[in-house]
Amino acid sequence: MTCRLCSEDSVELHFDFGEQPIVHHLIDSEDQPYKKHPFKVGYCHVCGLLQLIDHIKPEDLYQNYFTVSAWKAQPHAPRLIQLMESVFGIEHQTRILEIGCNDGTFMELLANHKYKNAIGFEPTQDAFELALGRGLNVVNDFFDPNTATSLMGGENPDLIVSRQVIEHIPDLHAFLDGVSEVLNPGGGLVLEMPDHSMNYETLDYTFWEEHVNYFTLNTMRSLLALHGFEIVHHESTLFSGKAFFVFARKSNSDTPRSISVNPDHEQAIRYRDLYPELRNGMIKMLEGVSDRGVALYGGGARSCNFINLLGLGDYIDYIIDDQPEKQNKIVPGANLTMRSYSRELDKDKFFLLGVNCEVEAKVVRKRALSQFASVLPPSVNLPRFWQELAQIKI
Ligand SMILES: [Zn+2]
Repeated sequence: MTCRLCSEDSVELHFDFGEQPIVHHLIDSEDQPYKKHPFKVGYCHVCGLLQLIDHIKPEDLYQNYFTVSAWKAQPHAPRLIQLMESVFGIEHQTRILEIGCNDGTFMELLANHKYKNAIGFEPTQDAFELALGRGLNVVNDFFDPNTATSLMGGENPDLIVSRQVIEHIPDLHAFLDGVSEVLNPGGGLVLEMPDHSMNYETLDYTFWEEHVNYFTLNTMRSLLALHGFEIVHHESTLFSGKAFFVFARKSNSDTPRSISVNPDHEQAIRYRDLYPELRNGMIKMLEGVSDRGVALYGGGARSCNFINLLGLGDYIDYIIDDQPEKQNKIVPGANLTMRSYSRELDKDKFFLLGVNCEVEAKVVRKRALSQFASVLPPSVNLPRFWQELAQIKI
């Protein structure tokens, strides 16, 4: 199979999770039909990119988006603005384009910092409407270079920001060609995405049908190099697991546009080879606590896909989720109902914690949970067997 980063015929199948539903298209009753899609993860041994094979068409995935960004705290967003100032020296008049601005959370923060010369693209209807309602200059579409320049009165943006977007994009080269075409010469590019090197280190197998690419800093550097961009700064942060952001500039035109050797190879092979042990360990642990009953706390896409992909639904009784919008809905695949927490019903349960680690301690304290283990790295509450497995040296 052909790699969508390096275009070599070098993608091998590493994980085949069978047919899976779109996990956050929640259903209302157990007999409600839903579509399933093959869920396969491939690995390119040339450039190192882990990628979904036969991904779902974006038109099917994004019509009605359920993950609006304001639902998740983003403590690192102000840091990004600080860095845009120090790395690229942006000023209040700088023309900023955000690709995939979601509900406008970041554009609003920019506006609050007096950066008002900004436009945003957001293809999903409900997120777009929220952004529009905040009085932001947004367009309800996938990113298009021509629309971008016409919205900026014929000018090109000086800075392009795209947060938690590129991991969703099947045609990486079309995306970066568009970015390259529209960005002012000497302009800056800021990309933020999940950091898959954390998944390699911690044996985190929470893939998501929306994420067709699983980048590490190394694979991102290769992709950007192919488009003449050079990373001038990068950082990682805790966000839905771990995220990293890169600050890149157009490099000199005489820099060769080629990818470097793949430094992630040993990690990627270890990750593939330890998967059966991780899954068996989970099953053994859940069998050991089955007499108390097991609930999953937190019904986000990461935790529900973890349950679906590893096939753990039969070991779990139900899902507790604090968001009223999700309560009484059913997660397709695992067929588990979500409901609110009840001290009386839940006090003796064993909890699998499926909340992001930045709020995990808060949940444990608030509910006074005593029997629990996390399933979302890089939590310190991962089961003991998992921690030991992850520490195996290459
Ligand atoms: Zn490749």
